[in-house]
Amino acid sequence: MESYNSFKVAQQQILEAAKILNLDEATIELLSWPQKEIKFTFPVKLDNGKVKIFHAYRIQYNTARGPAKGGIRFHPDETVDTIRALAGWMTWKTAVVDLPLGGGKGGVVCNPKLLSERELENLSRGYIRAIAQFIGVDTDIPAPDVYTNPQTMAWMMDEYETILHAHQPGVFTDKPQQIGGTEGRRDATARGGVITVREACKILDVDPAGKFAIQGFGNAGQRAALLHHELLGAGKLIAVSDSRGAIYNPDGFDSTELVQYKLKTGSVLNFHGSKPISHESLLELDVNILYPAALENAISSANANNIKAKIVCELANGPTTPEADLILSKKGIHVIPDILASAGGVTVSYFEMVQDKYSYFWDEDVVHKRLDQKLTKAYHRVYEAVKEKNVHPRLAAMVVGVARVAEACKLRGWV
Ligand code: GLU
Repeated sequence: MESYNSFKVAQQQILEAAKILNLDEATIELLSWPQKEIKFTFPVKLDNGKVKIFHAYRIQYNTARGPAKGGIRFHPDETVDTIRALAGWMTWKTAVVDLPLGGGKGGVVCNPKLLSERELENLSRGYIRAIAQFIGVDTDIPAPDVYTNPQTMAWMMDEYETILHAHQPGVFTDKPQQIGGTEGRRDATARGGVITVREACKILDVDPAGKFAIQGFGNAGQRAALLHHELLGAGKLIAVSDSRGAIYNPDGFDSTELVQYKLKTGSVLNFHGSKPISHESLLELDVNILYPAALENAISSANANNIKAKIVCELANGPTTPEADLILSKKGIHVIPDILASAGGVTVSYFEMVQDKYSYFWDEDVVHKRLDQKLTKAYHRVYEAVKEKNVHPRLAAMVVGVARVAEACKLRGWV
């Protein structure tokens, strides 16, 4: 497959939005690059007694609207450019849902599947020891991302508090609830995505009870499988995939059983009643709704022409390349772009920060209701921009997000 540089893609998206907004040169330059990049190495003691040096990043892309916010991923393919792109997307994502936050992202180049629990704890603590001085409740607030989870956040928070000699739970979000996490964070990304699908189905007159497929069956993909039925009242999940392969059943899977099976066996492969299919063909199935919930650049010019879904709801960050966006738009496929579709996670992260600040916690139904309000409002704001500017939804979402960040930079006198 053709390889894409995600940061180049992200910069191109900014440029397109900037043209529509008539931004000046200095603003474009400011928004096209991260404000701060921290690249570092740190040692970790392995179970075999040896020490391994890991390469890592934390990038604070833009803080005009508030402190940097975004996950930390543990993945072997991370580079400075993937983290830059992801940090930028977080900036537009928090702006699209109108949160008082900026954007950031971090990563450790590693294969977490080859590390033991104790090595993962050492890795998480080592990462924080190296960057503790650059993060904080009012400067930069990490969260989980690919292959990191609430346990990772618990270790990181503990390390950070040990260094500071102070209780500071709000510096990480999506923590376990027992130590300052919120209700409703674990399924928030998927819930936000399904809420946007609900709104899109109303506008486009698409039947939410039709077939759907999910590419990627990590936290977001699994929760989307369950919530699609719960929030939309129906739907038939006919295909899912994970890093080991893809499976298909034209009669539909029992989502609850499939999630349990994945948690038990570590993969969706060989689930009862399933037929294996290729990763490529999953994306090209005739479904009403397709949820890309894996990694960047899954839908490119190589396969966009074959996509048959009516709605593509991007739970992953950056799953569609700019060429593919144009192809999908020409085919009349409605893409709910990542910076909107996957914004539920960071929205509830923001709710967690607020609750941690006051040490007073909300009930689950309050979190769900406030998330629904934020995402519904953001979906319709982006849809208005689609009509106003006559552009595809990603460009519309970028226009909304970039305009808000540019305005904050201007008000601060930066440009
Ligand atoms: N990693 C998630 C994202 O990409 C959540 C970020 C956060 O909650 O800060 O949106």
